[in-house]
Amino acid sequence: MPEDGIAGRDAGLLWHPYEALDGDPPWVVEHAQGVRLGLRSPDGRAVEAIDGMSSWWCAVHGYRNPVLDRAVAGQLERFAHVMFGGLTHEPAVELGERLAARTPEGLDHVFLADSGSVAVEVALKLAVQYQAARARPGRRRMLTVRGGYHGDTTGAMSVCDPVHGMHSRFSGLVAGQVFVPEPPAAAVDEHGTWSTDERAVARWTERLRATAAAHEAELAGVVVEPVLQGAGGMRVYAPECLRALREVADEHGLLLVADEIATGFGRTGRWFACEHAGVVPDVLCVGKALTGGYLSLAAVVVSRHVGGVISGSDLRALMHGPTFMGNPLACAVACASVDLLAATWREDVDRVGTALRESLAPARHVPGVRDVRTIGAVGVVQLDAAADRAALTRAALEHGVWLRPFRDLVYAMPPYLATDGEARRIGEAVVAAVGSVAPAGPPGRAVRPVPGAALPEPVR
Ligand SMILES: *Cc1c(COP(=O)(O)O)cnc(C)c1O
Repeated sequence: MPEDGIAGRDAGLLWHPYEALDGDPPWVVEHAQGVRLGLRSPDGRAVEAIDGMSSWWCAVHGYRNPVLDRAVAGQLERFAHVMFGGLTHEPAVELGERLAARTPEGLDHVFLADSGSVAVEVALKLAVQYQAARARPGRRRMLTVRGGYHGDTTGAMSVCDPVHGMHSRFSGLVAGQVFVPEPPAAAVDEHGTWSTDERAVARWTERLRATAAAHEAELAGVVVEPVLQGAGGMRVYAPECLRALREVADEHGLLLVADEIATGFGRTGRWFACEHAGVVPDVLCVGKALTGGYLSLAAVVVSRHVGGVISGSDLRALMHGPTFMGNPLACAVACASVDLLAATWREDVDRVGTALRESLAPARHVPGVRDVRTIGAVGVVQLDAAADRAALTRAALEHGVWLRPFRDLVYAMPPYLATDGEARRIGEAVVAAVGSVAPAGPPGRAVRPVPGAALPEPVR
């Protein structure tokens, strides 16, 4: 690799997510179009790859999408940014109207945040403000489940899994929240029929009820990723557990915050993952696919009731207001993204999901594979142990697919516009990558663990 190449200049200069300055050398993206990334390897080879990750859930319409390009370019001809204090503009209003219309009935007020983590921060502050407005100022903690991921800012971190989220390393900075165990795993088939261990769900629900009752006087809200826990471990859990969380929130006067930053806009086979359980939250966080991966933007969509309580409080406002709030370029491209999603998500997620489910099935017979699961347009292969990420990445690229495995998880959430053939190639690359690290020997033997590969970092 020439030292003056992009990767060489990056080394030691830029931090990458959860990576050492002298960590694995990154691949350079030279161009991107549709579902394809034009990459240059650390040793200087040009490699064309199908994107299996949608750039961490967000680039659902692919790269250089002409509709999204036009939305950004059109707004750029008007203005790129203005402050949102005292000012408003058409892209923000258009987006607010779309979000109010396309979220469950009763979720009518919108706070535009500049990233998913910030949206979670806003939701936490909202819950505390809500309780204070109802003369319960002592209620400031959140109830959540283990295994979650809600972002990397300190408030969001506090509701992430305490072990994977490294709470002990940041004690004093990260608030102590109230945790219940991970909801029991469940599976959903291609017809949307769930199978769950009902006794495990009953035991978990009992534990949840006891914990909520014990902490009622200090709890402001419940935060949870509905049905699919993403970066905390790509776990699918029983919708009954989400219903139980809704009931517990109602019984104890807590706000239910659904973090659909990863799951929103069809990814799990429903427009919102809450619909698997027939649950309507009080607060809904969306992000990631919101702008189709063009710009950082998220939103907190709030019920009429909660909006009314905040408006009737002494503060009257929701106490947050970032510099780039409601950025017009981001809002304009989000409007275009939401319109595209609304028109095509069901067909796309069905097609990509079917292709993933079928192409990943052979992974069940690969030695060292513990579990294969799919939900909507998400496919996950879990290994017996953490495996060498660089080796997995290279193996997938040899099959023409970009993946970013993590811990013991090799997973894909392809762009929605992937064809049947492209989605199958992604699944086949996952199977091939997993096979390439599998030990020779009978099925069920562990994948050779790699020292350091089990660092407690999120998978996104
Ligand atoms: C990615 C993610 C976040 C954080 O979003 P950022 O835009 O990375 O800050 C929060 N919650 C969930 C469920 C996520 O998947």
